[in-house]
Amino acid sequence: MIRWGVEHYRGFMAEGLKCGSLFAPPQSLIKRIRRIIKPLKKCVPVGITLSSLLLSCGDGGTDPGSIDDTDFSIELVFINHGTPSQDSALIAAADRWMDIVQGDLSDVDFSSTPVPANTCGEGVQHPEFSGVVDDLQIFIDIRPLDGPGGTLGQAGFCQIRSISRLPVLGFISFDSEDLGPIELADFGALTLHEMGHVLGVGTLWPDSDTLLVNPSLPSSPGADTHFIGAAAVAAFDAAGGTAYTGGEKVPVENMLEEGSADSHWRESVLENELMTPVLQSGVANPLSAITTESLADLGYIVDSSGADSFTGTFSAPARLTAPGGRIIHLGNDTYRGPVEVVDDSGRVTQTILRR
Ligand SMILES: [Zn+2]
Repeated sequence: MIRWGVEHYRGFMAEGLKCGSLFAPPQSLIKRIRRIIKPLKKCVPVGITLSSLLLSCGDGGTDPGSIDDTDFSIELVFINHGTPSQDSALIAAADRWMDIVQGDLSDVDFSSTPVPANTCGEGVQHPEFSGVVDDLQIFIDIRPLDGPGGTLGQAGFCQIRSISRLPVLGFISFDSEDLGPIELADFGALTLHEMGHVLGVGTLWPDSDTLLVNPSLPSSPGADTHFIGAAAVAAFDAAGGTAYTGGEKVPVENMLEEGSADSHWRESVLENELMTPVLQSGVANPLSAITTESLADLGYIVDSSGADSFTGTFSAPARLTAPGGRIIHLGNDTYRGPVEVVDDSGRVTQTILRR
């Protein structure tokens, strides 16, 4: 999949997409290609790097992506690229999430109210955006951030829809100086994890009046924080959670700082599941049906048949010890900056301040 993505990504560029060109990818490829095509909506010169293409293109022109407008689409906009392997992992992550999330959301057309430059994400230097977002657009920014150590990366959304409250525009940033020691397989899990946050896993929970119960922040560490979405609880039970005696379901991280607590599954219970705050290096970190079904609780249409197998006994009370083995701690990886609520014309109807 990764190899496929790179080849078509580059092959497509080498063909030199022009305005109104007759380029017509096979129907089976449109869903995956559209996330690349859509930002390139005007005339595109051949042989320029993707990042500068994206910065120089505007609206109008042929949009092959509109051929199938019933699927859920994730569009990646690379502000600063990683290595080819890292870029490929991000594309593969988008593919994976698009196989799980189904159903088109309302388009948001920013042509009359553009998103100002550099306003989405912590220090993400993106251009002004005046295009149309089909479902979800993600700025990707991989560059030196806070030096070796510190925050490895951060992800989230900066705009949500006014009716569904689901994300429109988000970002993923990685500190390139921290990525060196991370093996490619682990980076794949990392990108999948961070893209989950852009979709709303963990990041939409704290603002929900109905899904997150008994939060540990700002001053109740160790509280029995839990996520009560019916679909996620059912998936937790199906994975072995009927035997869980540690508290209410589904247990949410309750012992860490802002940016980690209340926004991940509880590490001490769900251990190597993808959306806990610590990734286990060198082993699988399954994207379980607990996570995919939690997206249904947020309002997405999902197909959990693509989730990874994940079961546990969950029988012991919640432990508070750190996991063993090599780990990647994703401390403070969820964006808690302001979020704008927008209508279908991109008009801001509300600003939610979350710090
Ligand atoms: Zn995280």
